[in-house]
Amino acid sequence: MMPHQMTNNADVLIIGGGLAGLTAGIHLAKAHLRVILLEKHAYPQHKVCGEYISNEVLPYLSYLGIVIDELNPTRIHRFLLSTVSGKTLESELPLGGFGISRYVFDHFLASHAHRAGVDIRQTDVTDVLFEKDVFTIVTSDNSVYTSKLVIGAYGKRSQLDKRLRRKFFSQASPWLGVKAHYQADFPADLVALHNFDGGYCGLSRVENGVVNACYLTNYRSFRTFKNIDAFQQHVLSKNPFLDEFFTKATAVFDKPLTISQISFARKKPVDNHILMCGDTAGLIHPLCGNGMAMAIHSAKLVSELIIKFFAGEIATRLLLETQYTLDWSTEFKHRLLTGRIAQSLLSSPGITSILFKTLPLIPTVLPLLIRQTHGKPVVMD
Ligand SMILES: Cc1cc2nc3c(=O)[nH]c(=O)nc-3n(C[C@H](O)[C@H](O)[C@H](O)COP(=O)(O)OP(=O)(O)OC[C@H]3O[C@@H](n4cnc5c(N)ncnc54)[C@H](O)[C@@H]3O)c2cc1C
Repeated sequence: MMPHQMTNNADVLIIGGGLAGLTAGIHLAKAHLRVILLEKHAYPQHKVCGEYISNEVLPYLSYLGIVIDELNPTRIHRFLLSTVSGKTLESELPLGGFGISRYVFDHFLASHAHRAGVDIRQTDVTDVLFEKDVFTIVTSDNSVYTSKLVIGAYGKRSQLDKRLRRKFFSQASPWLGVKAHYQADFPADLVALHNFDGGYCGLSRVENGVVNACYLTNYRSFRTFKNIDAFQQHVLSKNPFLDEFFTKATAVFDKPLTISQISFARKKPVDNHILMCGDTAGLIHPLCGNGMAMAIHSAKLVSELIIKFFAGEIATRLLLETQYTLDWSTEFKHRLLTGRIAQSLLSSPGITSILFKTLPLIPTVLPLLIRQTHGKPVVMD
């Protein structure tokens, strides 16, 4: 299919070119739909993310012609959890995963999308209107786009949510995310999650032997410190594993990347008639290490239904929206709930201490808990 550079009209407009938006774009373009994807940043770019991806997405990526091995990812199949005092629990990861930086992965998917015929434009979407069964999108450079359907794949929080009056936007969230890359000695097959007062820090390797250190912390814990260095030194380093890591590691970035207002509030998978995908539909607690797989999986769900809609197999917009809401909830609601429970359990030192005493006695329980936050391999119907 040839890219449609000259027109601002498409079958499907996608807002946001992260994992959800790009994957949906590739899937739809392969089905010969005209897709324009609007992404505000240029590729490649770093993102705050732990960069551990569950293997559940591999069959689907392979169906789309995306071969992850070309990126030389690390293969990860062990999980280690530690408390602030340094007690540990270890488990095999039932499905396993791979480590790849978002800098490389998103760029790779964008190249695939471009080759598949997705018309990618670098622009910031400022408004979405729905009238007489047609969407009109306005961007910061005053361009106007129209389409029959819109996929919202613009991540966990955007000014667009305010514009669309989405409920969660007005509720303040205390969560901050910090991420940086390091040169360090760290096992290639391991993803580690180390607890500290007010949050947890993930460590795992991405391509080229670089180690990703990414943590989520409560603002309550962070606010008394002047800067990230002081916070890491006084809070994270109370955990002996993090102390050793940050003492020995050499930073690759000039300074870590940060984001605030990370909200885990419930959202609607269809809002203002927009089919929401990835974090725009709902964000799982990062400790589950499953947000990226869910973003890619939700792109599959929405793309399959959109293809049926354009083929006339789904007769109306209402049926499309109802079916997507149902499919999304069936696939993800349980995982999001388990993520919320896991997060609140790990935030309580008393419960964490009981868990660390009892879980080693029944070795099958931890893999079972991990399975609850992960899906099965995503295969085509
Ligand atoms: C601290 C932390 C650690 C995490 N660690 C992991 C992990 O190890 N493993 C895992 O699987 N998941 C992890 N996640 C979750 C994971 O990062 C997300 O689930 C994933 O990035 C979702 O992809 P997405 O495509 O929905 O959104 P994004 O990747 O955020 O993409 C959204 C895109 O939309 C663009 N955009 C936004 N607004 C506009 C606009 N108005 N106009 C145009 N473009 C716009 C943005 O520039 C962005 O490129 C973590 C999350 C956090 C916060």
